[in-house]
Amino acid sequence: MELTKQWRDHFKQLRAFDEAISLLYWDMRTQMPEQSAPLRAETIGYLSTEAFKRQTSDSFKQLLDEMEAANGLTATEKRSLQVAKTQYERNAKIPASEYQAYVTLVSEAETAWEKAKEQNDWGMFAPFLKKILTYQRKFADYFGYDAHPYDALLYDFEPGMTVAQLDDLFETLRDELVPLIRNLPGGTASLDWSMNKKAQERICHDWMRVVDYDLSRGRLDATVHPFEITINRRDVRITTKYDEADFRNALFGTMHEAGHATYEQQIDESLDELGLGGGASMGIHESQSLFFENFVGRSIAFLKSVYPNLQAEHHALQDVDFETFYAGVNEAKPSLIRIEADELTYSLHIIIRYELEKALIQGDLSVDELPAAWNKLYKEYLGVDVPSDAKGVLQDVHWAGGSFGYFPSYALGLIYAAQLTESLRAEHPDFETWIATGEFAPIKQWLETNVHRHGKTLTPNELIRNVTGEDISVRPLVRYLTSKYGTA
Ligand code: ZN
Repeated sequence: MELTKQWRDHFKQLRAFDEAISLLYWDMRTQMPEQSAPLRAETIGYLSTEAFKRQTSDSFKQLLDEMEAANGLTATEKRSLQVAKTQYERNAKIPASEYQAYVTLVSEAETAWEKAKEQNDWGMFAPFLKKILTYQRKFADYFGYDAHPYDALLYDFEPGMTVAQLDDLFETLRDELVPLIRNLPGGTASLDWSMNKKAQERICHDWMRVVDYDLSRGRLDATVHPFEITINRRDVRITTKYDEADFRNALFGTMHEAGHATYEQQIDESLDELGLGGGASMGIHESQSLFFENFVGRSIAFLKSVYPNLQAEHHALQDVDFETFYAGVNEAKPSLIRIEADELTYSLHIIIRYELEKALIQGDLSVDELPAAWNKLYKEYLGVDVPSDAKGVLQDVHWAGGSFGYFPSYALGLIYAAQLTESLRAEHPDFETWIATGEFAPIKQWLETNVHRHGKTLTPNELIRNVTGEDISVRPLVRYLTSKYGTA
């Protein structure tokens, strides 16, 4: 068989596993009867292991070697080979028995974390985190790095990103944000944000229609934790959480997930056969959800266009002028919980986590010192006192799941989104008019051409350079936040 056909067949097989696993997973999170959980987990585990074996087998190694020796590969095939080879080598560096023990540890740690958070008991989780960190440091050594062990862990989330770059970006961003937040004007009028679920559903569908999320290749369901999941390029689903006390959660959450989904729907379908489907990185993916949620969804142009409809659905808003509503939707204030934070203060939640996990990996901070270090940084950067570990260091699952190096992607998403929006605006001065009139086709087209269709054929930095002519920079985000929230 021709070599490149064999290569493509390998990824077609993996895509088939992915589709099956994703659909089982989606069903598990949205529809499945509760009693089915253990069997479903077993099935997903079995299929995932089979897929993993195909990525690490001797026959795949042989195929890799043959591809490396081959002549006449296209640029996309070469990129496919490079991405697959790096992943293969990372997988191969961890001894199978160690990996197995680690997977078991992480699943125990997640259960322990849930209980520890519930009971506000750091001591219940700390021993697990110590063990996870030992593994993470070991893995960093196995993967190899030049300057900092954390660099080795960043690859899974943000290929090419380093501590040196992040330190520089985040320090600048922190120094700009801290004074901006300190000088925020007082609170906004308290409005009634309650709404029944049916009405929220109608508005979510209305907003999805306005932003042209392709529901002929997707769907929206309700879950406790909202997510986007790709079954295949023509079936990209999202979920949202309807909170009857505050409809902002469902509306902006839906916009967020629709942003992720539109990215997935617009990736060139042929890239799946080369293992290059999917987003360029977690950060670039997040930039697309935040573009829809914040740069479109929370903008004056968009909100003005949907406000009359919202007032018709929600009688409590009928006597509220648009300026008051807009201020309520965009209220910014320092808080304790990352997932509830606004776009202005959000990055500081991330920078705090980044500084702490970098120090943990480096060995500059011990697990026992972590809660106090957490509380100290929340006071210093956000000016808030942390009343309990449950609302502090125990709030996120990421560390229990062994995801060290993941947090920076959230802030990188905001940084990239601001850069991309500036370029889009500069190229198309009609940008705001398009949003105001619900003309989303040209915006989606621009995103497809510049970001979406490329999948993993470009690294995050290549993508940003191609679009903006510059490397990653926090300046556009600082300009955006200062003009929106600055008092000057
Ligand atoms: Zn997201």
